Formats: sequence, C-alpha cells, structure tokens
Amino acid sequence: EHLLARIERHDGALNSFITVTGDAALEAADRADAARALGEAGPLTGLPLALKDIFCTRGVKTSCGSKMLDNFDAPYDATVVEKLAAAGTLSLGKTNMDEFAMGSSNENSFYGAVKNPWDLGAVPGGSSGGSAAAVAAGLVPAALGTDTGGSIRQPAAFCGITGLKPTYGRVSRYGMIAYASSLDQAGPMARTAEDCAHLLGAIAGHDLRDSTSVARGVPDYTEGLDAPLSGLKIGLPKEYFGDGLSAEVESAVREAIAVYESLGATVREVSLPHTHYAIPAYYVIAPAEASSNLSRFDGVRFGHRCENPTDLIDLYKRSRGEGFGEEVKRRILIGTHTLSEGFFDAYYKQAQKVRRLIRQDFLDAFEEVDVLMGPASPTPAFDLGANKDPVSMYLQDIYTIAVNLAGIPGISVPAGFAGGRPVGLQILGTHFAEAQLLNVAHQFQ
Ligand code: GLN
Repeated sequence: EHLLARIERHDGALNSFITVTGDAALEAADRADAARALGEAGPLTGLPLALKDIFCTRGVKTSCGSKMLDNFDAPYDATVVEKLAAAGTLSLGKTNMDEFAMGSSNENSFYGAVKNPWDLGAVPGGSSGGSAAAVAAGLVPAALGTDTGGSIRQPAAFCGITGLKPTYGRVSRYGMIAYASSLDQAGPMARTAEDCAHLLGAIAGHDLRDSTSVARGVPDYTEGLDAPLSGLKIGLPKEYFGDGLSAEVESAVREAIAVYESLGATVREVSLPHTHYAIPAYYVIAPAEASSNLSRFDGVRFGHRCENPTDLIDLYKRSRGEGFGEEVKRRILIGTHTLSEGFFDAYYKQAQKVRRLIRQDFLDAFEEVDVLMGPASPTPAFDLGANKDPVSMYLQDIYTIAVNLAGIPGISVPAGFAGGRPVGLQILGTHFAEAQLLNVAHQFQ
C-alpha cells in the first residue's frame, strides 16, 4: 500500500509505469502474508517489484512500449514472470520502455518519455528506463529489465542503481517479446548487488520452452558475496578510456577502481582491439533479427489493426504504418535491407564474422585478468531531447554493446556523480561469471 501510494503520488512526474496492477498486487500480498503465517515464506515472499512491459503477463496489458500492442493482453506468463510469482514476489505493474526495446533514452515510447528521478530534465536511459526510474525513485525495491545492447546497464548507470545483464542463455527468454533474439537477455535491476543476487537466483535456469537457455545448475548467488577480493586481477580495456569519454565520468570510475586496489585487487591495462567495430556490427545484426521478429505484427495475429482495410496488402501496410513508431520502422528497414539478396554477404555475414572477433577479444582478455572494469556509458544522463540524431544515440552504447555480441555478463554499479547525475561503473566477467560479478560489486557497496 505504501508503494502504491508512492506511485500514485510521484509517477505523474516520472511516467515510469505504463500499467499499475494494484488490486492484483494487494491480493498477492495477502497470499504472501498467509504463506508467512504458515511458515512457508522464502526470502522473496511478499517482495513487491515491477516488470518491464516487454514481459508477457497473463491477462495484463503487455505493450512493449508500442501502439502496436496497446490493446494486447498477453494470454500467458513469461517464464521469468512465472518464476518470480512462484518465489512469492508480487508485481505492482509494468514499466515504461523504448518501443520494442529500441533506444537508449526511453524517448521512443508510445507512452511518452520517462524522467530521471535525479533530475527531471534528464533522460533515465533506455530501453529499460521505466524500471530504472521506478527503482531509483523508491517506487519499487527491484524491477526486471532486458538488455540487448545495454538496456539494463545504461539506465541503471543513469539512475544510480545496480543492474545486471546475465550471460546469454542464463535466463529464459520465453514470453519476453523478442527484439534481437541472439542478444536479448533479461536481468535484475535493484538498489544493490545483493538484491540483484536474490532476483537472479529466482529467474535463472534452463527452460524447455527456450532452446537457447542453458542447462546448467543455478548457484546460490548470495553465498559468495562476502568473499574477499585480495588478488583479484582487474583489467581496464584501454579502448574504454579513450576519446569521447567525459572527464568527470572517467574520474568517478577511476576513483571506484582505486577502491578495489585498496581492497587488494591488482589493476592492469588490457586491450579489446575490435571494440571499434561493435556498434556497426550490432546495427547490422540487431535490426536484421528485429525485422524478422517484428514481421509477426501484421494486423492479423496480434495488436493494432487499421480501420476498414481494402485488401490484405492495405491491411499490412496501414496496420504496420500506424502501429510502429519511427525508430522501429528505421530498424525494420535497415534489417530488411541487410538481409536481402545481394546484400546479405556484404553486411550480415561480415557482421557475424566481426561478432566472432569481438567475442574472442573478451576471451583473450579473460586469459589475463578475472574481470574488466570501465564506465557503463561515456556520459552521465543527458537532457531530454538532447540526442535527436539516431547515430549519436547509437554511439551512447559504445561500452555496453560488445558485451551482448560476446554473450558475456556485465553489471553496472553506482559509482558517484558527474555534474550531479549518477555514474555507473561497469564490471564484466567471462561466461557464467555472474556470482563473481555480484561478489565484486557487493564489495564496493
Ligand atoms: N540502445 C540499444 C538499441 O537501441 C540497446 C537497446 C537494448 O539493449 N534493448 O538497440
């Protein structure tokens, strides 16, 4: 009730929720109380949280930030939604996001921009901007986001919270509306690494309904949080400290790294030589997958349908023309182009080769060091409306995107401020190193 009242009071200014499910949450809270009375409560029983509106929730609007799905009540729950409910948590609602998770500022939502709680003139980051803002504003203690190229880590950084993108395949994608299937991954956004550890333990694991989820045991991520860091080998990718990095962000990040040295870690420079190609490769691969995934929104099967279509082609054209926003259309066009005959080898195949090299850069670095550290984003949260040009928006993701191409996990941890706006320290580990990342993050907090 306390949190629902806070949402009522503050979310008019923030716009972090698309749908609030107060009644269902209060009923679930009663069930949680009953479980507690019977001695059946687990660590997450009764925990209120929020879900990015990309996760299907049975009987509840699941818009993906798009007019296309404004009228879509999902007929089933995503696996992560099911798992969180089974762990006893309750959802207060669905959070705002860039349309189909395409964006870095949450300004691409059909439901309007989300404001950064630290400064209402600033963006909260994206695409999981609603989840980040809701946690930062104390409307919920935790939320789920998704990260295809940085959409958990960058909004976590911009809003001063902790956000973890797990290894690709660690968490089931079943019921998560697909943007770029080979990159998408769900993960927790919360105040601390410890909170993220609890949530990751609840959502991770193999799922027969997602063939890309990995059959591998789920450890207790809270167990190793207090392990000492003496002897930890930290690598600083030199490409993450070069041109374009704000001096204030750099100094906050370097101060955080100095804290790790004082905890007994050693620091050395490493190189990820193909970093420079990550954004171009991503903006071939992600739109290609998106153009294919979004073909299902045709005015027939789900979502928006135009009025009085004259024939099937008119139905497709007008339903998609009216239902999708500008950025989504741009990506569909790019993806359709790069997949078309005559261009496939020149763009898509090349991008896949580059992806392989980027992955190898990380694997080589992890031969030398345990974790990598750097900024989550080159600047702190920018002003609403400041990044109008799509390419300058794409360049925002320079430190986060390669991680998705490589499939490795990454976490953003609050590390001070630059010009009064939060800064995120990004920590990267090798595949399935989530427990280590959470331990390293926790020791800083
Ligand atoms: N900003 C990137 C994009 O627009 C990443 C978004 C994401 O991780 N979903 O594609």
